[in-house]
Amino acid sequence: MDAGITVRALHAHAKINLALHVTGRRADGYHTIESLAVFTRFGDRVEIELADSDGFSVSGRYASVVPLDDSNLVVKARDALREQAGLQHTPPVAIRLEKNLPVASGVGGGSSDAATVLRGLAETWGLDLDEAELARVALPLGADVPMCLTAKPLIARGIGDELSTVSGFPALGLVLVNPGTAVSTAEVFNTLSGRDNEGLPPLPPSLDFHSIRNWLEITRNDLEPAARAIQPAIGKALSVLNKAGAGFARMSGSGATCFGLFETGNVAKRAAVDIRSRHPDWFVAATRSMTSEAD
Ligand code: ATP
Repeated sequence: MDAGITVRALHAHAKINLALHVTGRRADGYHTIESLAVFTRFGDRVEIELADSDGFSVSGRYASVVPLDDSNLVVKARDALREQAGLQHTPPVAIRLEKNLPVASGVGGGSSDAATVLRGLAETWGLDLDEAELARVALPLGADVPMCLTAKPLIARGIGDELSTVSGFPALGLVLVNPGTAVSTAEVFNTLSGRDNEGLPPLPPSLDFHSIRNWLEITRNDLEPAARAIQPAIGKALSVLNKAGAGFARMSGSGATCFGLFETGNVAKRAAVDIRSRHPDWFVAATRSMTSEAD
């Protein structure tokens, strides 16, 4: 155990599916996908501290809409890691979650919280687990939890758990917009019109803003038409991003959060201020994506 650190403060990054192709459905009902995903600096925050007894508390804008009981992915992640490591190696911890990401919104907030707790607790408890072992604990918590453990630009295949990191991916200026509507992932998948779509085209050899934007133009989020039909406010969020000058705008995951791509972080910030002034009740965040390098 690391006795030198009393409180561990960690970022739980939002996951943005820049492109998401649905490629089929397995016999067990899970859909297969191919997705290029990046992770943003903006996200939830997690604090972990050794304590006399286990505790879990939530603050932040979206605190009131996440469960506080054992169904919270933070608690599930703690318990799954403890089961793997054994009680004598896993003393009680107080975990505090600052919930800044909208819930059930396509940016993998719960999955990212779980991944961050796994990583933070493995360090706090001094567990000797390599990446593959941690990913094995992560997967039963949710198909997106292993990719959130990676938190670098990547292509996900299978049910989202077969991961290949993408090297040389730049930081992108992004504005995230959610029109304040939760969308059920299951409902979106159930109302898909087609499931056997082709996979992603190969990435361009040089990865810069323009080549990435051009590549995005020839890709899709196959969940977007179904989500927009269920929740028309998604279409409104996309048109607001385009009007604010986004070089490209698309929905992430199963929605309703949409992202706009901007050439620099400063342009993204100005666009976010503009959107927020017009839609003060929406979730709007200017941020940058994490690069392939450790940052
Ligand atoms: P994905 O992009 O993986 O579909 P999402 O962003 O759509 O994820 P989440 O915000 O992760 O969805 O929430 C999905 C469900 O998980 C919600 O119904 C919520 O009640 C539950 N949940 C449990 N723990 C958490 C958590 N820590 N944060 C958010 N939601 C949580």
